[in-house]
Amino acid sequence: MNRYFILIAVIFLGCHPGKKFISTKPPQNVILMIGDGMGLTQITAGLYRNGNKLHLERCKSIGLHKNYPEEKSGDLITDSAAGATAFSTGVKTYNAAIGMGPDTLPRTTILELANFSDMATGLIATSTITHATPASFIAHVSTRDKYEEIATWFLKNKFDLIIGGGAKHFSKRKSDTLDLMNRLKSKGVTVESYFDKELENIDFGTPNRLAYFTALDQPLPFSQGRNYLPMATEKGIEFLSSKKNPGFFLLVEGSQIDWGGHSNESEYIISEMIDFDNAVGKALDFAEKDKNTLVIITADHETGGYAIQKGSTMDSIKGKFTSDYHTGTMIPVFAFGPGSEDFQGIYENTDIFHKMLALLRKNKWFKSQK
Ligand SMILES: [Zn+2]
Repeated sequence: MNRYFILIAVIFLGCHPGKKFISTKPPQNVILMIGDGMGLTQITAGLYRNGNKLHLERCKSIGLHKNYPEEKSGDLITDSAAGATAFSTGVKTYNAAIGMGPDTLPRTTILELANFSDMATGLIATSTITHATPASFIAHVSTRDKYEEIATWFLKNKFDLIIGGGAKHFSKRKSDTLDLMNRLKSKGVTVESYFDKELENIDFGTPNRLAYFTALDQPLPFSQGRNYLPMATEKGIEFLSSKKNPGFFLLVEGSQIDWGGHSNESEYIISEMIDFDNAVGKALDFAEKDKNTLVIITADHETGGYAIQKGSTMDSIKGKFTSDYHTGTMIPVFAFGPGSEDFQGIYENTDIFHKMLALLRKNKWFKSQK
């Protein structure tokens, strides 16, 4: 009888290799990484230029999302505001909406839900921190170009860490004379900027909450010397994970892959893509060790209708473009860590929010309003 049982057990385990290693614990931390405008060709061009390898390949759960905005708008093409609002709130909305539904009423974001459950929260971008993608997680504003109004949401909403450009929307404001930098400081946020200190010289050990501004307006492209994204991701994760919170939520955006697409510059896309992938590597390194962290890497949409042409080599990608705007192709989703299997398949962009929320809700400490 015993022998029979052992035989069955051996057959069972043999038929399900690796199954016993799948974690049943929900993720405590979620890192959502958005390569703005990063379609499959952007990824492929970066992959070949980078010696036929990317950190993205470390993710074994891969899916696709459908990224059209609110159906009533009748247009299949999303912008970054509607795209990020789909991820942050689970609602398809009109283009230019920041954390607002199609009725221009605010929708609760995943960052707000994380704050409500006492998770540590952070936003990192290579654009201004008030730009559409990071803004859609922390602000509720009718249109994306109201940068100074978006900046006020960094006082209305809680965050533990922000790293990005756009200092002028906080302290050199045109619409009023408010100094939001001083107001952040009076709320206990340590405010630093590139004027005074390089990111590598910032002490992440002491501050309770930290805002680091990387530029007055938009940060430089990687090719012109900007190099903070991988370091910001590594230090940011270290900072958020050292807090005495039940977990953390971090958004990291490689903002300028999109701008390379808009300007139809293959080299711009490739350098931004590789920089973003190096940040992905830092997040995956942490998740690999931590084992309680879910990392999701995706884009809001493709930009440029970019395609690799005949005559290209690994070192010399010949790219052509069908558009100087976003296109409607489905977008890959890469996931790593506990819960990553949920991101396989084809689904709506809004499902990224619902999947993250469903996984976080499995934690006893997660208090969901939704
Ligand atoms: Zn764009």
